[in-house]
Amino acid sequence: MRKCIILGGGVTGLSAGLVSKFPIYEAKNIPGGICSSYYMRPKSNRKIYYEPKDQEVYRFEIGGGHWIFGGDEEVIKLINSFSKLKKYKRKSSVFFSEKNQYVPFPLQNNLRYLDKNIISKALAEISSPKITNPTTFSDFLEKNFGKTLNDLFFAPFHKKYTAGLWKKIAPQDSYKSPVDIEMIKEGAVGEVSESGYNADFFYPEKGLDEFSRNISSKCNIKYNKKVIKIDINDKRILFSDGTYLKYDLIISTMPLNKLINICGLKVDEKEDPHTSTLVLNIGAIKGNACPDDHWLYIPDSKSGFYRIGFYSNVDKMFIPRSSRSLNDKVSIYVERAYLNKNKPSKKEIKRYEEKVIKEIQSYGFIKDVEVVDSNWIEVAYTWSNINSKWREKAINLLGKYNVISTGRYGKWKFQGIADSIKDGLIVGNKLINEMAEK
Ligand SMILES: Cc1cc2nc3c(=O)[nH]c(=O)nc-3n(C[C@H](O)[C@H](O)[C@H](O)COP(=O)(O)OP(=O)(O)OC[C@H]3O[C@@H](n4cnc5c(N)ncnc54)[C@H](O)[C@@H]3O)c2cc1C
Repeated sequence: MRKCIILGGGVTGLSAGLVSKFPIYEAKNIPGGICSSYYMRPKSNRKIYYEPKDQEVYRFEIGGGHWIFGGDEEVIKLINSFSKLKKYKRKSSVFFSEKNQYVPFPLQNNLRYLDKNIISKALAEISSPKITNPTTFSDFLEKNFGKTLNDLFFAPFHKKYTAGLWKKIAPQDSYKSPVDIEMIKEGAVGEVSESGYNADFFYPEKGLDEFSRNISSKCNIKYNKKVIKIDINDKRILFSDGTYLKYDLIISTMPLNKLINICGLKVDEKEDPHTSTLVLNIGAIKGNACPDDHWLYIPDSKSGFYRIGFYSNVDKMFIPRSSRSLNDKVSIYVERAYLNKNKPSKKEIKRYEEKVIKEIQSYGFIKDVEVVDSNWIEVAYTWSNINSKWREKAINLLGKYNVISTGRYGKWKFQGIADSIKDGLIVGNKLINEMAEK
Protein backbone atom coordinates (compact mmCIF):
# COMPACT_ATOMS: atom_id res chain seq x y z
CA MET A 1 0.00 0.00 0.00
CA ARG A 2 1.25 3.47 -0.86
CA LYS A 3 2.09 5.92 1.89
CA CYS A 4 -0.20 8.94 2.21
CA ILE A 5 0.34 11.65 4.80
CA ILE A 6 -1.60 14.72 5.91
CA LEU A 7 0.04 18.05 6.66
CA GLY A 8 -1.69 20.18 9.28
CA GLY A 9 -3.92 19.26 12.21
CA GLY A 10 -6.50 22.02 11.81
CA VAL A 11 -10.13 21.04 11.23
CA THR A 12 -9.48 20.11 7.57
CA GLY A 13 -6.53 17.84 8.36
CA LEU A 14 -8.31 16.31 11.37
CA SER A 15 -11.38 15.45 9.27
CA ALA A 16 -9.24 13.91 6.53
CA GLY A 17 -7.29 11.95 9.18
CA LEU A 18 -10.46 10.82 10.92
CA VAL A 19 -11.93 9.07 7.89
CA SER A 20 -8.71 7.87 6.26
CA LYS A 21 -6.54 7.11 9.34
CA PHE A 22 -3.56 8.50 7.40
CA PRO A 23 -1.04 10.07 9.80
CA ILE A 24 -1.24 13.83 10.39
CA TYR A 25 1.90 15.93 10.89
CA GLU A 26 1.22 19.16 12.79
CA ALA A 27 3.69 22.01 13.44
CA LYS A 28 2.24 22.96 16.84
CA ASN A 29 1.69 20.91 19.99
CA ILE A 30 -2.11 21.22 19.99
CA PRO A 31 -4.81 20.22 17.48
CA GLY A 32 -7.35 22.48 15.79
CA GLY A 33 -5.23 25.05 13.95
CA ILE A 34 -7.05 28.37 14.12
CA CYS A 35 -10.09 26.60 15.58
CA SER A 36 -8.84 26.31 19.15
CA SER A 37 -10.08 27.89 22.33
CA TYR A 38 -7.80 28.67 25.24
CA TYR A 39 -8.30 30.02 28.74
CA MET A 40 -6.75 32.78 30.85
CA ARG A 41 -7.21 33.61 34.51
CA PRO A 42 -7.96 37.25 35.40
CA LYS A 43 -4.70 39.23 35.92
CA SER A 44 -2.62 36.46 34.39
CA ASN A 45 -0.75 36.36 31.07
CA ARG A 46 -0.54 32.58 30.76
CA LYS A 47 -2.55 30.67 28.17
CA ILE A 48 -4.16 27.45 29.45
CA TYR A 49 -5.25 24.88 26.88
CA TYR A 50 -7.74 22.98 29.07
CA GLU A 51 -10.60 24.60 30.93
CA PRO A 52 -9.63 24.38 34.62
CA LYS A 53 -12.11 22.65 36.98
CA ASP A 54 -12.99 25.84 38.88
CA GLN A 55 -13.84 27.58 35.55
CA GLU A 56 -12.57 30.89 36.97
CA VAL A 57 -11.18 31.86 33.58
CA TYR A 58 -11.93 33.82 30.44
CA ARG A 59 -12.31 31.62 27.38
CA PHE A 60 -10.80 33.04 24.18
CA GLU A 61 -10.04 31.76 20.71
CA ILE A 62 -6.85 31.97 18.70
CA GLY A 63 -8.66 33.35 15.65
CA GLY A 64 -11.33 35.36 17.50
CA GLY A 65 -14.96 34.18 17.70
CA HIS A 66 -15.30 31.06 15.59
CA TRP A 67 -19.02 30.50 15.12
CA ILE A 68 -20.10 27.58 12.98
CA PHE A 69 -22.41 28.75 10.21
CA GLY A 70 -23.65 27.02 7.07
CA GLY A 71 -22.55 23.44 6.76
CA ASP A 72 -24.63 20.53 5.63
CA GLU A 73 -26.41 18.11 7.93
CA GLU A 74 -23.62 15.50 7.72
CA VAL A 75 -20.99 17.97 8.94
CA ILE A 76 -23.13 19.38 11.74
CA LYS A 77 -23.93 15.82 12.87
CA LEU A 78 -20.26 14.91 12.84
CA ILE A 79 -19.27 17.94 14.93
CA ASN A 80 -22.14 17.25 17.31
CA SER A 81 -20.96 13.66 17.75
CA PHE A 82 -17.60 14.90 19.05
CA SER A 83 -18.81 17.89 21.01
CA LYS A 84 -22.41 18.82 21.73
CA LEU A 85 -23.46 21.87 19.72
CA LYS A 86 -25.69 24.70 20.83
CA LYS A 87 -27.60 26.84 18.32
CA TYR A 88 -27.67 30.65 18.49
CA LYS A 89 -29.55 33.34 16.58
CA ARG A 90 -27.22 36.01 15.28
CA LYS A 91 -27.39 39.48 16.80
CA SER A 92 -25.01 41.86 15.10
CA SER A 93 -24.89 45.48 14.04
CA VAL A 94 -22.92 48.11 12.24
CA PHE A 95 -21.64 50.55 14.85
CA PHE A 96 -20.78 54.12 13.85
CA SER A 97 -18.56 54.97 16.78
CA GLU A 98 -18.34 58.70 16.09
CA LYS A 99 -22.12 59.10 16.27
CA ASN A 100 -22.61 56.28 18.78
CA GLN A 101 -25.17 54.88 16.36
CA TYR A 102 -26.15 51.21 15.87
CA VAL A 103 -27.77 49.85 12.71
CA PRO A 104 -28.69 46.15 12.74
CA PHE A 105 -26.77 43.96 10.27
CA PRO A 106 -27.10 43.88 7.29
CA LEU A 107 -27.12 47.66 7.02
CA GLN A 108 -28.79 47.71 3.58
CA ASN A 109 -31.87 45.90 4.98
CA ASN A 110 -32.22 48.28 7.92
CA LEU A 111 -32.08 51.71 6.32
CA ARG A 112 -34.86 52.99 8.62
CA TYR A 113 -32.21 53.49 11.31
CA LEU A 114 -30.44 56.12 9.17
CA ASP A 115 -31.21 59.81 8.55
CA LYS A 116 -34.11 60.53 6.17
CA ASN A 117 -31.98 62.20 3.50
CA ILE A 118 -29.55 59.26 3.50
CA ILE A 119 -32.46 56.82 3.09
CA SER A 120 -33.93 58.62 0.08
CA LYS A 121 -30.56 59.00 -1.65
CA ALA A 122 -29.63 55.39 -0.93
CA LEU A 123 -32.95 54.07 -2.24
CA ALA A 124 -32.67 56.06 -5.45
CA GLU A 125 -29.13 54.79 -6.05
CA ILE A 126 -29.63 51.21 -5.01
CA SER A 127 -32.87 50.65 -6.93
CA SER A 128 -31.01 50.95 -10.21
CA PRO A 129 -27.90 48.89 -9.46
CA LYS A 130 -25.34 48.59 -12.22
CA ILE A 131 -23.71 45.34 -11.17
CA THR A 132 -22.43 44.56 -14.66
CA ASN A 133 -18.74 43.79 -14.91
CA PRO A 134 -17.38 45.14 -11.66
CA THR A 135 -13.61 45.28 -11.95
CA THR A 136 -12.40 45.51 -8.35
CA PHE A 137 -13.90 44.74 -4.95
CA SER A 138 -14.39 48.47 -4.34
CA ASP A 139 -16.07 48.87 -7.75
CA PHE A 140 -18.40 45.95 -6.92
CA LEU A 141 -19.42 47.59 -3.63
CA GLU A 142 -20.08 50.99 -5.16
CA LYS A 143 -22.02 49.53 -8.09
CA ASN A 144 -24.13 47.38 -5.77
CA PHE A 145 -24.84 49.79 -2.97
CA GLY A 146 -24.52 53.20 -4.62
CA LYS A 147 -22.35 56.12 -3.57
CA THR A 148 -24.22 57.15 -0.44
CA LEU A 149 -24.13 53.80 1.37
CA ASN A 150 -20.69 53.06 0.02
CA ASP A 151 -19.25 56.31 1.39
CA LEU A 152 -21.07 55.82 4.67
CA PHE A 153 -20.14 52.20 5.40
CA PHE A 154 -19.02 49.78 2.68
CA ALA A 155 -15.96 51.72 1.54
CA PRO A 156 -14.44 52.62 4.93
CA PHE A 157 -15.27 49.17 6.37
CA HIS A 158 -13.76 47.20 3.47
CA LYS A 159 -10.72 49.44 3.36
CA LYS A 160 -9.96 48.32 6.91
CA TYR A 161 -11.10 44.71 6.41
CA THR A 162 -8.82 44.21 3.37
CA ALA A 163 -5.93 46.31 4.77
CA GLY A 164 -6.30 48.65 1.79
CA LEU A 165 -6.37 45.93 -0.92
CA TRP A 166 -10.00 46.46 -1.88
CA LYS A 167 -9.15 48.77 -4.81
CA LYS A 168 -6.78 46.19 -6.34
CA ILE A 169 -8.39 42.81 -5.74
CA ALA A 170 -11.22 41.03 -7.54
CA PRO A 171 -14.73 41.13 -6.01
CA GLN A 172 -15.19 38.32 -3.49
CA ASP A 173 -17.71 36.83 -1.06
CA SER A 174 -20.66 38.69 -2.61
CA TYR A 175 -23.00 36.50 -0.54
CA LYS A 176 -21.80 38.40 2.54
CA SER A 177 -23.29 41.62 1.13
CA PRO A 178 -26.60 40.54 -0.46
CA VAL A 179 -28.66 43.05 -2.44
CA ASP A 180 -32.36 42.26 -2.43
CA ILE A 181 -34.16 45.38 -3.62
CA GLU A 182 -37.54 44.39 -2.16
CA MET A 183 -36.02 43.70 1.26
CA ILE A 184 -34.06 46.94 1.15
CA LYS A 185 -37.25 48.90 0.45
CA GLU A 186 -39.14 47.04 3.17
CA GLY A 187 -36.34 47.59 5.65
CA ALA A 188 -36.38 51.32 4.95
CA VAL A 189 -39.80 51.54 6.60
CA GLY A 190 -40.13 48.54 8.93
CA GLU A 191 -38.78 45.21 10.25
CA VAL A 192 -37.57 42.60 7.78
CA SER A 193 -36.82 38.96 8.42
CA GLU A 194 -33.25 38.05 9.40
CA SER A 195 -31.02 37.37 6.43
CA GLY A 196 -27.43 36.85 5.47
CA TYR A 197 -25.07 33.88 5.51
CA ASN A 198 -24.84 33.57 9.28
CA ALA A 199 -28.36 34.31 10.60
CA ASP A 200 -28.09 31.17 12.79
CA PHE A 201 -24.92 29.57 13.98
CA PHE A 202 -23.64 26.78 16.21
CA TYR A 203 -20.92 26.59 18.82
CA PRO A 204 -19.78 23.58 20.92
CA GLU A 205 -21.10 23.76 24.50
CA LYS A 206 -17.65 23.02 25.88
CA GLY A 207 -15.63 25.09 23.45
CA LEU A 208 -13.91 24.47 20.14
CA ASP A 209 -10.91 23.11 22.04
CA GLU A 210 -13.04 20.17 23.20
CA PHE A 211 -14.17 19.47 19.64
CA SER A 212 -10.61 19.60 18.24
CA ARG A 213 -9.25 17.47 21.10
CA ASN A 214 -11.99 14.84 20.78
CA ILE A 215 -11.64 14.47 17.04
CA SER A 216 -7.82 14.39 17.31
CA SER A 217 -8.09 11.52 19.81
CA LYS A 218 -9.47 9.38 16.95
CA CYS A 219 -6.65 10.40 14.60
CA ASN A 220 -3.03 9.36 14.26
CA ILE A 221 -1.49 12.79 14.86
CA LYS A 222 2.17 13.71 15.41
CA TYR A 223 2.81 17.08 17.02
CA ASN A 224 5.76 19.49 16.80
CA LYS A 225 6.37 18.36 13.24
CA LYS A 226 6.87 21.52 11.22
CA VAL A 227 7.57 20.81 7.55
CA ILE A 228 10.34 23.02 6.20
CA LYS A 229 11.00 21.43 2.82
CA ILE A 230 9.35 18.99 0.46
CA ASP A 231 11.56 17.34 -2.14
CA ILE A 232 8.95 16.62 -4.81
CA ASN A 233 11.34 14.58 -6.98
CA ASP A 234 12.64 12.33 -4.20
CA LYS A 235 9.22 12.38 -2.45
CA ARG A 236 10.81 13.29 0.87
CA ILE A 237 9.60 15.70 3.56
CA LEU A 238 12.07 17.44 5.84
CA PHE A 239 10.90 18.59 9.29
CA SER A 240 12.38 21.41 11.41
CA ASP A 241 13.61 18.84 13.98
CA GLY A 242 15.96 17.43 11.33
CA THR A 243 13.98 14.24 10.68
CA TYR A 244 12.58 13.31 7.27
CA LEU A 245 9.91 11.09 5.85
CA LYS A 246 9.32 9.38 2.50
CA TYR A 247 5.81 9.59 1.03
CA ASP A 248 3.81 8.67 -2.03
CA LEU A 249 1.07 11.23 -1.66
CA ILE A 250 0.48 14.34 0.47
CA ILE A 251 -2.77 15.99 1.53
CA SER A 252 -1.71 19.47 2.59
CA THR A 253 -3.82 22.00 4.48
CA MET A 254 -1.13 24.63 4.93
CA PRO A 255 -1.50 27.91 3.00
CA LEU A 256 -1.09 27.42 -0.75
CA ASN A 257 1.56 30.14 -1.15
CA LYS A 258 3.75 28.56 1.56
CA LEU A 259 3.29 25.07 0.15
CA ILE A 260 4.44 26.18 -3.31
CA ASN A 261 7.57 27.70 -1.74
CA ILE A 262 8.34 24.70 0.45
CA CYS A 263 8.07 22.44 -2.62
CA GLY A 264 10.50 24.70 -4.50
CA LEU A 265 7.94 25.23 -7.30
CA LYS A 266 7.29 28.33 -9.39
CA VAL A 267 3.89 29.32 -10.76
CA ASP A 268 4.04 31.38 -13.96
CA GLU A 269 1.60 33.97 -12.64
CA LYS A 270 1.73 36.69 -9.97
CA GLU A 271 0.88 35.25 -6.52
CA ASP A 272 -2.55 36.23 -5.19
CA PRO A 273 -2.47 38.43 -2.09
CA HIS A 274 -3.53 37.63 1.44
CA THR A 275 -4.08 39.66 4.59
CA SER A 276 -3.03 38.85 8.12
CA THR A 277 -5.20 39.42 11.17
CA LEU A 278 -4.17 40.53 14.61
CA VAL A 279 -6.76 39.18 17.06
CA LEU A 280 -6.81 40.97 20.39
CA ASN A 281 -8.60 39.07 23.16
CA ILE A 282 -9.71 41.12 26.14
CA GLY A 283 -11.31 40.11 29.43
CA ALA A 284 -12.71 43.08 31.33
CA ILE A 285 -15.29 44.49 33.70
CA LYS A 286 -18.38 45.20 31.66
CA GLY A 287 -19.01 48.86 30.79
CA ASN A 288 -22.36 50.61 31.15
CA ALA A 289 -22.77 50.98 27.39
CA CYS A 290 -21.71 47.46 26.43
CA PRO A 291 -24.15 46.32 23.70
CA ASP A 292 -25.73 42.89 23.66
CA ASP A 293 -24.67 42.19 20.07
CA HIS A 294 -22.57 39.13 19.26
CA TRP A 295 -20.34 41.24 17.07
CA LEU A 296 -20.15 44.74 15.57
CA TYR A 297 -18.80 45.93 12.22
CA ILE A 298 -17.04 49.24 12.83
CA PRO A 299 -16.09 51.39 9.82
CA ASP A 300 -14.62 54.34 11.74
CA SER A 301 -12.46 52.99 14.58
CA LYS A 302 -9.51 55.20 15.41
CA SER A 303 -7.17 52.33 16.26
CA GLY A 304 -7.74 50.59 12.90
CA PHE A 305 -9.85 47.56 13.88
CA TYR A 306 -12.85 46.59 11.76
CA ARG A 307 -14.75 44.22 14.04
CA ILE A 308 -15.35 43.73 17.75
CA GLY A 309 -16.97 40.51 18.90
CA PHE A 310 -18.41 39.75 22.32
CA TYR A 311 -17.82 36.06 23.06
CA SER A 312 -19.72 36.37 26.33
CA ASN A 313 -22.79 37.85 24.60
CA VAL A 314 -23.00 34.59 22.67
CA ASP A 315 -22.53 32.49 25.80
CA LYS A 316 -21.70 33.23 29.43
CA MET A 317 -19.26 30.27 29.41
CA PHE A 318 -16.70 32.75 28.07
CA ILE A 319 -16.39 34.62 31.38
CA PRO A 320 -15.21 33.37 34.79
CA ARG A 321 -17.81 31.19 36.51
CA SER A 322 -18.38 33.55 39.47
CA SER A 323 -19.38 36.34 37.06
CA ARG A 324 -21.87 34.37 34.98
CA SER A 325 -24.92 35.16 37.10
CA LEU A 326 -23.74 38.68 37.94
CA ASN A 327 -23.08 39.38 34.24
CA ASP A 328 -20.47 41.95 35.31
CA LYS A 329 -17.63 40.87 33.01
CA VAL A 330 -17.16 40.63 29.28
CA SER A 331 -14.94 38.59 27.00
CA ILE A 332 -14.13 40.38 23.74
CA TYR A 333 -12.20 39.88 20.49
CA VAL A 334 -11.01 42.75 18.34
CA GLU A 335 -9.82 42.14 14.77
CA ARG A 336 -7.51 44.26 12.66
CA ALA A 337 -6.15 43.42 9.19
CA TYR A 338 -2.57 43.96 8.02
CA LEU A 339 -0.52 43.36 4.92
CA ASN A 340 2.15 40.88 5.85
CA LYS A 341 4.91 43.35 5.00
CA ASN A 342 3.49 45.61 7.73
CA LYS A 343 3.63 42.98 10.49
CA PRO A 344 3.78 44.93 13.76
CA SER A 345 6.66 44.45 16.18
CA LYS A 346 6.02 43.39 19.81
CA LYS A 347 6.36 47.04 20.84
CA GLU A 348 3.85 48.17 18.21
CA ILE A 349 1.39 45.47 19.29
CA LYS A 350 1.71 46.68 22.89
CA ARG A 351 1.02 50.27 21.81
CA TYR A 352 -1.91 49.11 19.68
CA GLU A 353 -3.37 47.11 22.61
CA GLU A 354 -3.28 50.24 24.79
CA LYS A 355 -4.95 52.33 22.07
CA VAL A 356 -7.71 49.76 21.52
CA ILE A 357 -8.44 49.47 25.23
CA LYS A 358 -8.70 53.25 25.57
CA GLU A 359 -10.94 53.45 22.51
CA ILE A 360 -13.41 50.78 23.61
CA GLN A 361 -13.39 52.19 27.13
CA SER A 362 -14.36 55.53 25.55
CA TYR A 363 -17.31 53.76 23.83
CA GLY A 364 -18.37 52.62 27.33
CA PHE A 365 -18.08 48.91 26.37
CA ILE A 366 -15.57 48.03 29.12
CA LYS A 367 -14.20 49.37 32.39
CA ASP A 368 -11.02 47.92 33.92
CA VAL A 369 -9.20 45.29 31.91
CA GLU A 370 -8.33 42.01 33.64
CA VAL A 371 -6.52 40.27 30.84
CA VAL A 372 -5.33 41.04 27.32
CA ASP A 373 -3.70 38.72 24.81
CA SER A 374 -3.02 38.91 21.08
CA ASN A 375 -2.63 36.33 18.32
CA TRP A 376 -1.15 36.91 14.87
CA ILE A 377 -2.78 34.92 12.06
CA GLU A 378 -0.35 35.27 9.22
CA VAL A 379 -2.50 34.00 6.38
CA ALA A 380 -6.00 34.90 7.55
CA TYR A 381 -7.93 36.11 4.49
CA THR A 382 -7.04 35.07 0.96
CA TRP A 383 -7.83 37.28 -2.06
CA SER A 384 -7.40 37.19 -5.84
CA ASN A 385 -5.78 39.57 -8.28
CA ILE A 386 -8.16 40.57 -11.07
CA ASN A 387 -8.56 37.74 -13.61
CA SER A 388 -5.91 35.76 -11.76
CA LYS A 389 -5.34 32.11 -12.56
CA TRP A 390 -2.64 31.74 -9.86
CA ARG A 391 -4.76 29.63 -7.52
CA GLU A 392 -5.81 27.06 -10.16
CA LYS A 393 -2.31 26.93 -11.64
CA ALA A 394 -0.70 26.41 -8.22
CA ILE A 395 -3.14 23.64 -7.23
CA ASN A 396 -2.74 21.87 -10.61
CA LEU A 397 1.03 22.12 -10.50
CA LEU A 398 1.15 20.55 -7.03
CA GLY A 399 -1.22 17.82 -8.19
CA LYS A 400 1.30 16.78 -10.84
CA TYR A 401 3.69 15.96 -7.99
CA ASN A 402 1.13 14.03 -5.91
CA VAL A 403 0.49 16.93 -3.53
CA ILE A 404 -3.20 17.70 -2.94
CA SER A 405 -3.81 21.14 -1.45
CA THR A 406 -7.14 21.52 0.33
CA GLY A 407 -9.06 23.38 3.07
CA ARG A 408 -9.60 27.13 3.34
CA TYR A 409 -5.95 28.00 2.99
CA GLY A 410 -4.92 25.12 0.76
CA LYS A 411 -7.62 26.03 -1.77
CA TRP A 412 -7.10 29.78 -1.18
CA LYS A 413 -10.83 30.23 -0.87
CA PHE A 414 -12.98 32.11 1.63
CA GLN A 415 -14.87 29.45 3.59
CA GLY A 416 -15.75 28.60 7.17
CA ILE A 417 -15.16 25.70 9.54
CA ALA A 418 -18.02 23.54 8.21
CA ASP A 419 -16.85 23.74 4.59
CA SER A 420 -13.26 23.08 5.64
CA ILE A 421 -14.38 19.96 7.52
CA LYS A 422 -16.30 18.89 4.43
CA ASP A 423 -13.14 19.28 2.30
CA GLY A 424 -11.24 17.04 4.72
CA LEU A 425 -13.97 14.38 4.69
CA ILE A 426 -14.20 14.36 0.89
CA VAL A 427 -10.47 14.12 0.24
CA GLY A 428 -9.93 11.58 3.06
CA ASN A 429 -12.71 9.30 1.79
CA LYS A 430 -11.65 9.60 -1.84
CA LEU A 431 -8.03 8.79 -1.14
CA ILE A 432 -8.62 5.87 1.14
CA ASN A 433 -10.48 4.21 -1.73
CA GLU A 434 -7.87 5.17 -4.31
CA MET A 435 -4.93 4.06 -2.16
CA ALA A 436 -6.57 0.73 -1.39
CA GLU A 437 -7.12 0.07 -5.10
CA LYS A 438 -3.40 0.50 -5.92
C1 LIG B 1 -10.04 35.98 11.80
C2 LIG B 1 -10.80 34.77 11.33
C3 LIG B 1 -12.10 34.55 11.78
C4 LIG B 1 -12.80 33.43 11.35
N1 LIG B 1 -14.07 33.23 11.82
C5 LIG B 1 -14.75 32.14 11.45
C6 LIG B 1 -16.06 31.89 11.96
O1 LIG B 1 -16.60 32.64 12.79
N2 LIG B 1 -16.71 30.77 11.54
C7 LIG B 1 -16.17 29.88 10.64
O2 LIG B 1 -16.81 28.89 10.30
N3 LIG B 1 -14.92 30.09 10.17
C8 LIG B 1 -14.20 31.18 10.53
N4 LIG B 1 -12.94 31.37 10.05
C9 LIG B 1 -12.39 30.37 9.10
C10 LIG B 1 -11.85 29.13 9.78
O3 LIG B 1 -10.84 29.53 10.68
C11 LIG B 1 -11.25 28.20 8.73
O4 LIG B 1 -12.19 27.85 7.76
C12 LIG B 1 -10.70 26.91 9.31
O5 LIG B 1 -10.04 27.14 10.52
C13 LIG B 1 -9.74 26.28 8.32
O6 LIG B 1 -9.16 25.14 8.92
P1 LIG B 1 -7.89 24.47 8.28
O7 LIG B 1 -7.65 23.21 9.00
O8 LIG B 1 -8.08 24.36 6.80
O9 LIG B 1 -6.71 25.52 8.47
P2 LIG B 1 -5.87 25.84 9.79
O10 LIG B 1 -6.71 25.96 10.97
O11 LIG B 1 -4.99 26.98 9.41
O12 LIG B 1 -4.99 24.53 9.98
C14 LIG B 1 -3.79 24.33 9.26
C15 LIG B 1 -2.82 23.61 10.18
O13 LIG B 1 -1.61 23.40 9.46
C16 LIG B 1 -0.53 23.59 10.36
N5 LIG B 1 0.66 23.95 9.57
C17 LIG B 1 0.89 25.08 8.89
N6 LIG B 1 2.12 25.06 8.34
C18 LIG B 1 2.65 23.87 8.69
C19 LIG B 1 3.92 23.26 8.44
N7 LIG B 1 4.87 23.88 7.73
N8 LIG B 1 4.15 22.00 8.95
C20 LIG B 1 3.19 21.35 9.66
N9 LIG B 1 1.99 21.91 9.95
C21 LIG B 1 1.73 23.14 9.46
C22 LIG B 1 -0.99 24.74 11.24
O14 LIG B 1 -0.28 24.79 12.47
C23 LIG B 1 -2.47 24.42 11.42
O15 LIG B 1 -2.70 23.65 12.57
C24 LIG B 1 -12.20 32.50 10.44
C25 LIG B 1 -10.89 32.72 10.01
C26 LIG B 1 -10.20 33.82 10.45
C27 LIG B 1 -8.80 34.03 9.98
